Order: sequence, then structure tokens, then C-alpha cells
Amino acid sequence: MAIVKDMAAAPPIALPTASPFAALWPFAALLGLAVLLPLTGNEYWALIATRACIYWVLVSGLNLIVGYAGQLAIGYVALLTIGAYTTAVLAAGNLFEPLHPFLALTIAALTGAVFGVVVGLPALRLRTFYFAMTTLGFATIVTQVALAWQDVTGGGIGIVGPTMPAPLDTAWGFYYACLAVAAVCTWITGNIARSRFGRALVTVRDAEVAAEASGIAKPRLLIWVFILAGALAAFAGGLFATLQTYITPDAFTFDLSLLFFIAVLIGGRGSILGPLLGTLLLTLLPEVAAPLAAWSTFLYAALLLVIVLAIPGGIAALIDPRNRRALPDNRAVIPRPELLPALLGQQPPHAGLALRNIVLAFGGVRAIDGLDLDLRPGEVHGLIGPNGSGKTTTLNVISGYYRPETGEMTCDAAPLPAGDAVGRAARGIARTFQTPRVVGEASVLENVMVGAMIEGRAGFLEALLSLPRQRREERETTARAHQALAAVGLGALADVRADRLQHSELRFMEIARALMLRPAFLMLDEPAAGLSTDEIKRLDQLIRAVGRQGTGVLLVEHHADLIFEICDRITVLNLGKVLAAGTPDEIRTHKEVVSAYLGG
Ligand code: ADP
Ligand code: MG
Repeated sequence: MAIVKDMAAAPPIALPTASPFAALWPFAALLGLAVLLPLTGNEYWALIATRACIYWVLVSGLNLIVGYAGQLAIGYVALLTIGAYTTAVLAAGNLFEPLHPFLALTIAALTGAVFGVVVGLPALRLRTFYFAMTTLGFATIVTQVALAWQDVTGGGIGIVGPTMPAPLDTAWGFYYACLAVAAVCTWITGNIARSRFGRALVTVRDAEVAAEASGIAKPRLLIWVFILAGALAAFAGGLFATLQTYITPDAFTFDLSLLFFIAVLIGGRGSILGPLLGTLLLTLLPEVAAPLAAWSTFLYAALLLVIVLAIPGGIAALIDPRNRRALPDNRAVIPRPELLPALLGQQPPHAGLALRNIVLAFGGVRAIDGLDLDLRPGEVHGLIGPNGSGKTTTLNVISGYYRPETGEMTCDAAPLPAGDAVGRAARGIARTFQTPRVVGEASVLENVMVGAMIEGRAGFLEALLSLPRQRREERETTARAHQALAAVGLGALADVRADRLQHSELRFMEIARALMLRPAFLMLDEPAAGLSTDEIKRLDQLIRAVGRQGTGVLLVEHHADLIFEICDRITVLNLGKVLAAGTPDEIRTHKEVVSAYLGG
């Protein structure tokens, strides 16, 4: 116990913070080098460096799709093609009067935004591999259209790229322009990455059900990202057409598409700096090793293999300081229930959650068979029963993952629609999972902040530009997540990557995430599984304290002691039916329960 006390009093372990800009110096150093590049006086370098900047404009957006949202968009060269042709055609006047190149670029970006959504839409329905195929198919279609639409695109002969006005018409002038655009792209995609939208993206990628339970609607979220990435890619296309001075469909090869995709992969998921370095590496490599240029595809493939095998996390994992610092082994989770009133406030009075005659069968198995359940505010309601008796299924019905075949649900006297998992957070219903659903590569703090997703008012554009309301909300959410972590006893581990935590700690982390919602109802699926006796006692106190704030707690548990100790009411399930329901004393002496379940 003495050790435990010491741990509680110890100051937080000082670990580097985890935002994509936590270490600004690598970005500053790269920018510094880039700005000084003209000192070399070598115009060939201007060409290569301009190309690297242009590629990064595309990859920075693609990174949000591939690295953050985990969507395998392989054929992203299509959007570069669209942007290049739109800019070139509009500037040349092949369709209408010739436009100013800046205006042509702007229109290209808008066109890219539209097509970004078109390319992205299948991702909302199709699984990874099939989505990858559709992006490739789209790339082929775009190239074919560019070939066939001869009077506008010049077909196989091609079309001249736009000419930029002075001072952008010199090699170094254009280089600086592209560098500025690249720097802005780094900034805005970094802003998204560290906003609630970035956290939502990685949660959709790694823990989709947890994202839904936190109220994150995947389609709405992804469409914003597709718009942004599409616009950036097409803008990059316009710059690319300018740099090439002449474009033909041959310029937009599958190799190029592969380069963009691999730059993100070797850069590492969920990082800005990693893919930026990846892009530089892949652009520069064939130049530095000039004789190898013909082997570039082979080189990319080999590099990819080496990185995937040797450092699966990519460059990002290699440079992530959170991976190195050792964590103490015998750390104990000591919740501080006394912090809950400040974190949760007192729930306003409400009517409770009611289930009536719920039936749900899987094939021939009736997982729930005519279930009635009442969850009252401020009470801890235990749900017990042998394995397979339908406890988790009940939670899944309440949280909208399963649609019952018959039965009614009400929440605070209003009907609770079946299905609609994403809508549950707005109704004040939070939950944890029997197997913790977490984003291993994100920090503990970031995982917890996801729980406050629906509170955010600042929109995507505000996050993109890091406007004042966005920054203020971010500060507030960060502070509250720290509070939630302190309350569940994980305050010292806030900046650690979640995949370095022990299983028991992850359970407490999930509770912290759920508490971020200030839930009216909290459902815990076997929170004590894998916990030591001491930890269970402390969990006990924590759950009771949550109830005291007026939250109705539904507790699924195997540990009979925990259940009888803290529950106000208990429902015993057997084969999907209610075997008994009542106070702990009634259940303890219930004949059938004792013989069937408690084994006394
Ligand atoms: P527990 O009380 O152990 O949490 P569950 O609610 O997970 O039990 O499961 C209840 C019954 O429903 C079990 O027989 C289980 O096999 C079945 N079941 C649960 N989910 C599914 C599913 N998605 N598909 C088919 N059967 C399922
Ligand atoms: Mg279960």
C-alpha cells in the first residue's frame, strides 16, 4: 500500500507531448534549408526541389486519407491529372477565352475538390481492397478521357502548360512559389491532424465502433477530407503542368501514383513529418543515384519492403520520441473519484432508459428473448449471467449496433431509435467495450479526447486555419481530458502511446473516454476483467462516484463481489431471458439464481 501511495503522490512522468507539431524544429530546419537552396546556384536543383514541393502538396492531402483515415487510395495520380489538364486547358483557352493562370489554378482546385469526393465516395461503402481498385479504375478513366478528348486536351500529342507571370516565370521564382504553397499545406494538414477531426480520422481507422459510440459520423468526416485532398492534389496538378511546360497523358503514370502512396506508407501512419520526409526521399533518391533512375520503381518497391519489414511504423515511428522513454513497470492505477464532480457536474433530473420486450435472434439462436430493463438515473444496475446469456448483445442493442426484431426502447421518455449507433452520444449514452477499442498509435490523452467529439463547435474550416474558436475548444478539451485521466488514475500516462499500456490500464482509459461525454447513461462491459483485487476495489469506488453524479450506470460483470457490493439493482440473464431482477439482497437469496449461477 505504501508503494501505491507514493505513486499517487508522484509527479506525472514527463514525456514529450504528442501533437504533430510537438517538435517544430525539423519543419523549421527543412524550411530553412529549402529557403537557402538558391545559394547553390544550380538550376537543376531548382527543378528537383520544385518537383518535391509539388509532390508534397498532393501527398500532404493524401496523407490525411491514407495515413490518418486508413483508406487505400492508390490511384491518386488521377487528381493530379485532372488538375494539370484543367489548369492547362483553361490557361490555353481551348474551351473558353484564355484565363489568367492563377484563376485557372483556382478553378482546377475546385474541380479537384469535386472529383476528390467522387473518387472517395466508394470508400464509404467498400472495404479497403475494393476501394483501392476503384481509385485505380478512376485513374485509368481519366487518362483515357485525356487521350480521347483531342480538341481540348491535345490527345496523345499533349498541351502546353500554363505560363506564370513574373516573378514566378524563373526557375527560382517558381520554386519559391511552390515552396510557399507546400509550407501552407504542411500547416493546414497539420492543423487538421491535431484537431478533433484528425483524432476522429484515426479512430475511424483503428477503432470504428468506438468512433461511432463517440458520435463520429464517418461519411461526413471523410467527405471533408476528400474535398481537401482532392483540391490540394488538383492544385498540385496545375503546378506540375507549369513545371513540365508540356503535358501528355504519359506523364501521369502508375509509377507516379505509387510514389505518392508509398511516400505516405514509408513515412508512417498518423504523422505529418514522416510522409514529408518520405516524399523528399522518393523524389531525391533517383536524382542522387542518377544511374538508378531507370530502376526507380524497383527502388521504391525495395525501399517499401525494407521499411515495412524493418520498421513497420515507418519513418514516423523511428523519430517518435514517445516510443523510447521507459515506463515504470509496477505502476498502479489509482482513481480519484473526488475529481468526478468537477469533471461531470450533476446530471439534470431525467426519466431513465427503458427496454421493453426486446427480442434479437442470430440465425436460430435467440440471444435476447423478451428482455425488459430499466436503467434509472443515479443508480448502478448490474447485468449478470453466464457466458453467452446475452449481456453484451443487450449493450449492443442499447448502443444501436444491433437492431432488435421486436421491442421498444425509450430514453428519457422519448423513443430511442433502433440502430443509429452514431446518434447515441448525443442522447447522453456512453459505453466501454468488452475488448478495449483504442487507437494504439495515438497518445492516451488523444484517445480520451475523442470522447468529447460531439461537443466541438468549430468546423472543419476553422480547424484547417486554426482559428481562435478552434484553439480555445482544443485547450478546453485538453484540460478536461487531463481531468478525466486524473479521475480514473491515469494522469501520469497522458502522453504515452496507448499501445504501451497494460490491459487493465486500457479499461480505465476507456472509462475516461466515456466520461468525457458527461454521460447520462454509462454502460460498462466487464470493466473488471483482468484487474487485480486492489484495482477492482478502486474501480468500485469510481463507479459508485459516477452514479452519485446522477449518471445511470449499466454494469456487466462476472465478479459477483463487485456486483453485490455496488449495485442498486441487478438483472440476471440466462439464455437471453430475465432469470431474476431485483435488489442485491433479493438476488442473493433467489433460488434459481443461486442454483444456476452463483453455484451455492
Ligand atoms: P455475453 O452474455 O457473454 O456477453 P453475448 O451477448 O455476447 O453473451 O452473446 C449472446 C449469444 O448471442 C451467444 O450465444 C452468442 O454466440 C450470440 N451472438 C452474439 N453476437 C453474435 C453475432 N454477431 N452473430 C451471431 N451470434 C452472436
Ligand atoms: Mg459479453
